[in-house]
Amino acid sequence: MLTAIVGVNWGDEGKGRMVDLFSRDFDIVVRYQGGNNAGHTVINHLGKFILNLLPSGILSENVINVMGCGMVIDLKHLEGEVKRLRGAGVKVSPDNLKISDKAVICMPYHVQLDVLEEERLADKKFGSTKRGIAPVYGDKYLKKAFRMGELKDINQLMARAQGIIEWKNLTLKGVYGAPPVSLKEIEEYFKKYSALFKDYVTDTSAFLDEAARSGKKIMFEAQLGALRDIDFGIYPYTSSSSTIAAYAPIGAGIPNRKLDKCIGIMKAYSTCVGEGPFMAEMFGEDAERLRQAGGEYGAATGRPRRVGGFDVVASRYGCRVQGADEVALTKLDVLSYLDEIPVCVNYELDGKIIDYFPFSADLDRCKPVVKYFKGWGKNISGCRARSELPKEANDYVDMIEEAVGCKITYISVGPERNQYIKG
Ligand code: GDP
Repeated sequence: MLTAIVGVNWGDEGKGRMVDLFSRDFDIVVRYQGGNNAGHTVINHLGKFILNLLPSGILSENVINVMGCGMVIDLKHLEGEVKRLRGAGVKVSPDNLKISDKAVICMPYHVQLDVLEEERLADKKFGSTKRGIAPVYGDKYLKKAFRMGELKDINQLMARAQGIIEWKNLTLKGVYGAPPVSLKEIEEYFKKYSALFKDYVTDTSAFLDEAARSGKKIMFEAQLGALRDIDFGIYPYTSSSSTIAAYAPIGAGIPNRKLDKCIGIMKAYSTCVGEGPFMAEMFGEDAERLRQAGGEYGAATGRPRRVGGFDVVASRYGCRVQGADEVALTKLDVLSYLDEIPVCVNYELDGKIIDYFPFSADLDRCKPVVKYFKGWGKNISGCRARSELPKEANDYVDMIEEAVGCKITYISVGPERNQYIKG
């Protein structure tokens, strides 16, 4: 049984929390794309955890976690994340964490290049998280990146590193006037992290294929959402990886397998980090109230998120490109303070009302068409069944379900593991 849990919107939908909830029913949880440029926040009986690189299944005993070949891994960040978890009593060992030999290493110079480029762009910047993600994916496709499996033979790795570092220094010095990196520091970096992580590195592709063959339940955990996908998102304000469920078997390492199910995680309102078109955006005091109510500050960066009402057009598109079979609606409780809930029901493009999500460059010419729905005006975080929700909240959920055309099977009404409604 292969299930993907993916974001329908711009990311930060609360995937981490849902994956944590679901992961108890799975044998294996796999991250299949991205790096430490976003964070999953999970609150459970052990405490509050922000996971940037590790699969959320790491918090569930008896789950084996895999970092797939589609990922880019900042080893220093991974070291810190593992340390923090161990400090809180969470087990992290080669028994419950396996890293693909084909996953790419996000080097310190990738982070440096990301920072240098954002500085160069100044007021034209994209709002990069400055974690080196675009530079490292760029190098992957230029075939000038290093992979985790190479950490097993430092001599062979350093022989290859020579040409790559020489080339990288041409960019650092020539384009940005930055000091070059030395082969010695690169070798020290590889040696340090080889010692720490080489025992975790394995052919996860073979491991997962065998697991799938023997009927194990495997979950693919996405980072970010449909609208950040490199192909289907709001390019160029996207991430550099494929966040789409169809990529999960590839990024996990089992392209020979098909997904059995895709669960889309969708937020009851909209948030967006960084630059780019964001149709449902609220401003001023209204935005601040929603931001505070939802605690909408970046898990990886602490940046205040842009916020807005639910966007029907973008979410319907998100469900479609994700191929969502069902949807988990998150953070419905956050809207409880509103008397009237704004929802972006359509876009207006060049004076015409449209219901489809347009080509990303056309989004700049779109305006939101907003409709208001009646709020419920009471705390719903204690509700555990649809019948316990106020009528207006049920109406709101029904309206969203119909608008996006996908069944809502879970509604989360709080950040804790048990604060959700099924069905
Ligand atoms: P992710 O990257 O998709 O996992 O999203 P975030 O890390 O931004 O997680 C969303 C935040 O909202 C976290 O702080 C969660 O603990 C919290 N959260 C998740 N679901 C709910 C919910 O239903 N209600 C409330 N109030 N908070 C939630």
